[in-house]
Amino acid sequence: MSKTEEKVAAIYRDVFSKIEPRRDVPDISLTFYPYVNVNNTIRVRDGRVIVKISTLMEDAPEGVHTALALILVSKLLRKHVPAAADRAYKRFISSPDFREKALSHKREKGRKVIGDPRGDVYDLEEIFDGLNAEYFDGGLKRPSIGWSAKRTFRRLGHYDQAHHAIIISKSLDSKTIPAFVVEYVVYHEMLHVKHPTVHHNGRRYSHTAAFKRDERAYDHYDEAESWIDRNSHRLKEIAGAVGSKKRYWGLFD
Ligand SMILES: [Zn+2]
Repeated sequence: MSKTEEKVAAIYRDVFSKIEPRRDVPDISLTFYPYVNVNNTIRVRDGRVIVKISTLMEDAPEGVHTALALILVSKLLRKHVPAAADRAYKRFISSPDFREKALSHKREKGRKVIGDPRGDVYDLEEIFDGLNAEYFDGGLKRPSIGWSAKRTFRRLGHYDQAHHAIIISKSLDSKTIPAFVVEYVVYHEMLHVKHPTVHHNGRRYSHTAAFKRDERAYDHYDEAESWIDRNSHRLKEIAGAVGSKKRYWGLFD
């Protein structure tokens, strides 16, 4: 372990002895790990506690490391996570500085595979430009846009802020999907470009009131919503997931 890792591991030993004072403090191996996203894990292997913390946390203040240690150790021991620790950690990772750091880290680490915007049936760039002219006065800067590699059905589209990219599920690139449905999903993702995620008290708000208001401005809003509701089986079929027990949930991100 590096010097910083040793220092942070000492915090974990401290937390273990506070949460379970009557037990011996276990051996702890702690490493900073270059996860693409902010991710921190704890597990036990051969009686040793293995802690992996995102490299993004490396220079976090001691108080934040203590908060994170309380969260991870409580989870490991199936104890209630102290609310104050939860708040302190979330406040830290939702601060503008940290978020900027996390985004640029993701930009560097995460390779994004974006498929061709021209599908077998629908051309996403064409759809984007049409919607842009109609609903945004042509003012939205076009991000990378493309079809997903897999025909997913649980998530029909998402906007990746780090890579400024819209990815639409390949399941929608089919003659059996009406154009207004594909457009609706693209339109939804375009609204994520227009209304960036808001962070407030450590929580993320992607679908704000303003977002939802704009969403309803889409000409075929009701029609598209109810089509998607009624056709989850069709989407599953296209995705080759008919037997899947997975319920259809979370249309968009
Ligand atoms: Zn969304």
